[in-house]
Amino acid sequence: MRVNYTKIIATLGPSSDSSSIIENLVQAGLDVARMNFSHGTYPNFKQIANNVRKASRKHNRTVGIMQDLQGPKIRLGLLPKEGISIKRGQKIIFSTLAKPKKDHIPIKYRNLHKDVRKNHLIFVDDGLISTKIDRIKGNEIHCTAKTKGTLFSNKGINTPNSTIKAKTLTPKDIKDLNFGLKLGIDFVALSFVKDAKDIKELRSILTKKGHSQVKIISKIERHEAIDNLEEIVQESDGIMVARGDLGIEIKPEKVPIIQKRIIELSNKYGKPVITATQVLASMVNNPRPTRAEISDAANAIYDHTDAIMLSNETATGSYPLESVRMLAKTISSVENELKKQREIVENEIKNKDIPDVNAACLSACELAVDSGANRIIVYSKDGYTMSQMVKHRVFIHTILITPNKNLIQESSLYWGINRSIYKKFTKKQENKNFANELKKFVKTSKLAKKNDKVVIIYNAKGIGSIATYTL
Ligand code: PGA
Ligand code: MN
Repeated sequence: MRVNYTKIIATLGPSSDSSSIIENLVQAGLDVARMNFSHGTYPNFKQIANNVRKASRKHNRTVGIMQDLQGPKIRLGLLPKEGISIKRGQKIIFSTLAKPKKDHIPIKYRNLHKDVRKNHLIFVDDGLISTKIDRIKGNEIHCTAKTKGTLFSNKGINTPNSTIKAKTLTPKDIKDLNFGLKLGIDFVALSFVKDAKDIKELRSILTKKGHSQVKIISKIERHEAIDNLEEIVQESDGIMVARGDLGIEIKPEKVPIIQKRIIELSNKYGKPVITATQVLASMVNNPRPTRAEISDAANAIYDHTDAIMLSNETATGSYPLESVRMLAKTISSVENELKKQREIVENEIKNKDIPDVNAACLSACELAVDSGANRIIVYSKDGYTMSQMVKHRVFIHTILITPNKNLIQESSLYWGINRSIYKKFTKKQENKNFANELKKFVKTSKLAKKNDKVVIIYNAKGIGSIATYTL
């Protein structure tokens, strides 16, 4: 099975919900299964989650489950089945009323007319149709179409110049979250995050419901989030560069620049970062990707993304398995090249005192590289030591040992954790020469072979401790 540094996330849906295909995906290298709650039904999500857990157990491979909440995505209401075709320069009227007048285009978000202004843009259907606001009259938004196209029911709306005041967590999200928690999700992705407060609100809900172990992934996809990036990264457990909506909310040519900034900032804080959307878009319909798509995925790896995510490619496309295999091959190809460089990425936060654990992790990485170690063993309870260890992007087979079952699932998203093992030590073992206890465990569990050089890092009472052994 694939020994992976960069992780693979695939969205599961109608093309990939059966037990046999999920098993194939897990064998091809799937690390995290994403369920997109903008589409799909509860019974289907339940089936997917069960099949993922089954395949993970059968193939002894850690696979995380991520619930992606829809968030305050604004959508058109019901239109005739054949759609409404629009000419360039045509005047159109959007209405936020529950029962709009004939010929008005219904919008489901009741307050949109209050959040937008004259001259702001309204984009429909992934930005394919662009309109500019001429005036606002009560619940009516009068616009001029800048492009031709056809409007269909339920298509998404983006407002790149306006601040939408709707809450980031909608009533539908709360209902979906309750369902997800019952399924036992490991990660919840919060869509259209605008600031740290959004994340704090979700975290307090998780804590109140007794599920504080569920990790929050903030999706960066609206223009307000760009201004609050650092506080969002600090407050989140992980970050997603959600290029689909982001590329409409800001100019598409700005996305690569922002993507690099988000990845760099997440790396510094040791927060896992996911590069998402349109990664192998052409494989929705074709068995082979474009060379540009492969290059894009490769460059995200060079930039130190933790994970790459597939969306429609695996959820609704014709080639779900081929897509995961193609991504796995791309990752191996780039990683084999990077391995030769034996580089240590510093990834420290400038102008900040480095706490002991951070400093010890950097030293452990240097020791492992300089001594030619072939195993790194990270003992981590709450994940901090793990996160600070892998952010230096050292290509040495790394094994997590943890007494925390939730951390095993969480490690599925972290770059470079190649294997995760559950083990509880006694207080006595932890207090007395713990490095030696860990070494004994590595040996008896056959986590390394004879003559392997092993670097062990663990956090003993807030101080990072390093040990090195030749087995
Ligand atoms: P979505 O989020 O697939 O839920 O829209 C990802 C993105 O916008 O890129
Ligand atoms: Mn989105």
